[in-house]
Amino acid sequence: MERNENAFENAMEQLKEAIKHMDISENAIKILSSPEEVLEVNIPLKMDDGKLKVFRGFRVHYNTSRGPAKGGIRFHAGVTLDEVKALSFWMTIKNAVVNIPFGGGKGGVIVDPKEISQNELKKLSERYVDAIFEFIGPDKDIPAPDVNTNETIMGWMSEEYNKLAGKFSPATFTGKPIALGGSKGRDISTSLGASYIIDEYMKNHNLAPEKTAVAIQGFGNVGYNLAKILYESGYKVVALSDSKSGIYDEVGLNPEEIMKEKIESGGSIRNIGGRGKKITNEELLELDVDILVPAALENVITKDNARKIKAKVVVEVANGSTTIDADKILESKGKEIIPDVLANAGGVTVSYFEWIQNRTGEYWEADEVFEKLEKIMRTEFKNVNETKLEKNVSYRTAAYIIALERIAKAIDARGI
Ligand code: NAD
Repeated sequence: MERNENAFENAMEQLKEAIKHMDISENAIKILSSPEEVLEVNIPLKMDDGKLKVFRGFRVHYNTSRGPAKGGIRFHAGVTLDEVKALSFWMTIKNAVVNIPFGGGKGGVIVDPKEISQNELKKLSERYVDAIFEFIGPDKDIPAPDVNTNETIMGWMSEEYNKLAGKFSPATFTGKPIALGGSKGRDISTSLGASYIIDEYMKNHNLAPEKTAVAIQGFGNVGYNLAKILYESGYKVVALSDSKSGIYDEVGLNPEEIMKEKIESGGSIRNIGGRGKKITNEELLELDVDILVPAALENVITKDNARKIKAKVVVEVANGSTTIDADKILESKGKEIIPDVLANAGGVTVSYFEWIQNRTGEYWEADEVFEKLEKIMRTEFKNVNETKLEKNVSYRTAAYIIALERIAKAIDARGI
């Protein structure tokens, strides 16, 4: 595997790049160069056919100087410890970028959920909680959904935690169903947050949605909802894709219609007939559009395809979508990247609201959630933009500078 395909090494390069432009204590750098705690677990599971299968799971607390660890749980065949470490580092930065009182954590299980039954998925989710039970809790580490996990799974996990704890502890998991203490608006929060960031960028550059073509890679929770919000705001959403295939139409696509047809044709964009042109995920990234949104997995823009990226701006809704080499290539070509730690921070922000609601027992209407989310996203975009202009750095480095200053202050104040 080449260097930059390792997400953790990529994350550490991003850290090194940011600290070149700032004054940060040596202690803080040392502490932030590796995770605080790493838990690796075996998850034995009796499958539907009666045979035992052992799954491998991880949970990482990267840094908890600013508060309990917070970050999602990923179910994917390609999960590795390095990936989880990278994701937990990015969560540490992200939570500081939006200034919410959490450190960073992340979890993952090596599994392809499409290969197991619903019953096995539920048992796996519960056994994973059994394995990490001591490691999580409302004041310690608060997991949430990520790739291939959703509110149903959070509901199962939360219930398993409650059983083991012997009490109702809704603030341990966020992204739960509303019936179990989930927050109104959490389902679309990552996408809505990204749309506020895109809106700020557009205003800064005097751009109009009607004249802006957008391509989105990944048609899951975040990609689909963002496509829908942008379409409804007047943007031309010209390309969409899932893991199997992409679809392109220069006139524009209605994401809701595409989702409907995807479901009706067996669950894949590949099978949709009679409209647009089928493209691969690689081709989608290289389309001549104004905004490119990676909303699937990490390491999709690398040194191999960065020169072919034509979009003026890349909005990283997926975590870690651009490698450090690709970052440099895009920058040298005058492309801008709105980094994951800012662009997709809406999800964790509303998770924070969910945690507050669970702890106070006072529940908010969706309007209140969105109003608070909008304020945070727009304020932090402005902060990042100011630092970008002041220090003449990229959006990513500016976001890291702001986050690292906040984290370092907490590390130093603790007197380590
Ligand atoms: P999801 O599982 O709902 O959707 C993932 C989508 O990516 C699916 O459409 C899938 O078909 C597609 N995909 C998978 N492999 C692909 C490949 N190789 N090429 C192209 N597409 C592929 O996941 P999600 O919750 O929408 O998360 C997407 C990204 O957003 C991830 O990077 C995640 O870490 C990040 N993110 C999610 C949240 C959240 O609230 N869910 C918050 C912050 C960041």
